[in-house]
Amino acid sequence: MNIENKETEGRKSLNFIESIVEEDLKNNKNNGVVCTRFPPEPNGYLHIGHAKSICLNFGLAQKYNGKTNLRFDDTNPEKEEVEYVDSIKEDVRWLGFKWEGEARFASDYFDQLYAWAVKLIKQGNAYVDDQTPEIISEQRGTPTKPGIESPFRNRSAEENMDLFIRMKNGEFKNGERVLRAKIDMSSPNMHMRDPIMYRILHKEHHRTGNKWCIYPMYDFAHGQSDYIEGITHSICTLEFEVHRPLYDWFLNHLYTEGTVRPRQIEFARLNLSYTIMSKRKLFELVQKKIVSGWDDPRMPTISGLRRRGFTPESIRKFADIIGVAKRDNVIDVALLEHSLRDDLNKKASRVMAVLNPLKIVLTNYPEDKEESLTIDNNPEDESMGTREMPFSREIYIEQDDFMEEAPKKFFRLAPGKEVRLKAAYIIKCEEVIKDAEGNITELRCTYDPDSKSGSGTEASKRKVKGTLHWVSTKHALSAEVRLYDRLFNDPDPSGHKDKDFKEFINPESLKILTNCKVEPGLKDAKPESKYQFQRLGYFCVDKKDSQPSKLVFNRTVPLKDSWSKKNK
Ligand code: ATP
Ligand code: MG
Repeated sequence: MNIENKETEGRKSLNFIESIVEEDLKNNKNNGVVCTRFPPEPNGYLHIGHAKSICLNFGLAQKYNGKTNLRFDDTNPEKEEVEYVDSIKEDVRWLGFKWEGEARFASDYFDQLYAWAVKLIKQGNAYVDDQTPEIISEQRGTPTKPGIESPFRNRSAEENMDLFIRMKNGEFKNGERVLRAKIDMSSPNMHMRDPIMYRILHKEHHRTGNKWCIYPMYDFAHGQSDYIEGITHSICTLEFEVHRPLYDWFLNHLYTEGTVRPRQIEFARLNLSYTIMSKRKLFELVQKKIVSGWDDPRMPTISGLRRRGFTPESIRKFADIIGVAKRDNVIDVALLEHSLRDDLNKKASRVMAVLNPLKIVLTNYPEDKEESLTIDNNPEDESMGTREMPFSREIYIEQDDFMEEAPKKFFRLAPGKEVRLKAAYIIKCEEVIKDAEGNITELRCTYDPDSKSGSGTEASKRKVKGTLHWVSTKHALSAEVRLYDRLFNDPDPSGHKDKDFKEFINPESLKILTNCKVEPGLKDAKPESKYQFQRLGYFCVDKKDSQPSKLVFNRTVPLKDSWSKKNK
């Protein structure tokens, strides 16, 4: 697999779409107007691939002082739902973009599309075919073998009109007739072999109700919707390159001189390693409850990434870094995670959280004493200020940070060894307490009262090998922490011929820890707020399940990428 890692520094040269737009502006094509659109089909939640398309369409308009429409391509009432319309709007807004005016719907144009279909019939450019879809598809031929003309191809315009009106009036059952464009059954481009423009579907539509029982096909609806809206640059993914002659054919037959004529431009869709982006497969994961929903933090959906703790800025930055390609490629998902760490490193406050607590009693610390220690919120950014954190005789550290029989290079706590508690004191392990089964239940340590961080004493400057994070037991808050990892453990889960993509689900993609302890300052942490848990990674407050009485954190990403090492 070709994994591409591209990072461009400094000023970037124009991408090929920007070059086209600048050339059009120079020639004063469309009177210097730039209008793009993002055209999702409301049949699923948006994913990171759509985010790429959103950033591209809205980004172009922003750069050239233009506008971007949000248009729902709702021509298939069988799969579309209002839930998807709402989620798509929310995701586009969250990414930070504002579409022009109200959201639009291809279904708003059904009357105009119908009128254009009538025009094509009258011009002799379209006909009603009485054959079944199966026969029509057989007659299309293959790329090397020309198709066969339908026996209904040469009907008179009057007969076609009569039949088309009756199709519209509901006189026929689903599949009994279709309207086809009359182009060329021996064209080397299969899409030009009399493609279907309208089909009969007796099905209620989420917006037009039962007004229509004929629905336009994508190829007829899409380009004409662009034309109606005055879209100048209609940007789509590469698989539509072969549709472009058809896009232009319809416009050639319907275009009025002096109006904006849209131009279709194709770019390579985003593919990410370790990620599936097919809506059908994502839907399967949701339906089979392999994930908790479209917004499960392991999903590549925008709502999943958001719940995982991604910021809109990190996604926009990622889209910018990968640029716009003309050829299909695969981007390493590590690059997306890198953009995220880069952003969170600047923004996230650093706090202390202990995921697997081990109690320590500081035997020489007075029982009733408590003190408040001052800690930087982000040592890389002083403007983020400081906070107070309580310290007392009993604290928790991470179980992993202690080893009874430590190897030489273990620079954490071990019997007889010293470590520094971050922003606090140096402690020394004096005794290990175990239960009847021999499990370590507690450590007895002493602390050096003169070693307080920042106090300026000799002892405070003393270097010890390890620094540990900690929380005070009586002040700490309990929390649940969900450790998320990549959903798939294969770089190309849908690329295996004999294996289903679900065989590559990472069994370790979610571990739930219910007995975690976090510093008391997180009491009022708002849903979706993001933190760096010192030494552990970036975490955010789960927007659905976290409550003041029971905090729930999602791990966004660990501090370092552990996957690239695994695969070397
Ligand atoms: P479907 O198979 O249901 O059509 P789709 O992923 O093409 O799925 P649409 O809702 O039609 O979904 O997509 C809306 C827009 O997003 C289209 O312009 C499409 O080209 C673009 N898009 C979809 N997937 C990607 C991707 N992986 N990378 C970049 N753009 C994408
Ligand atoms: Mg599509």
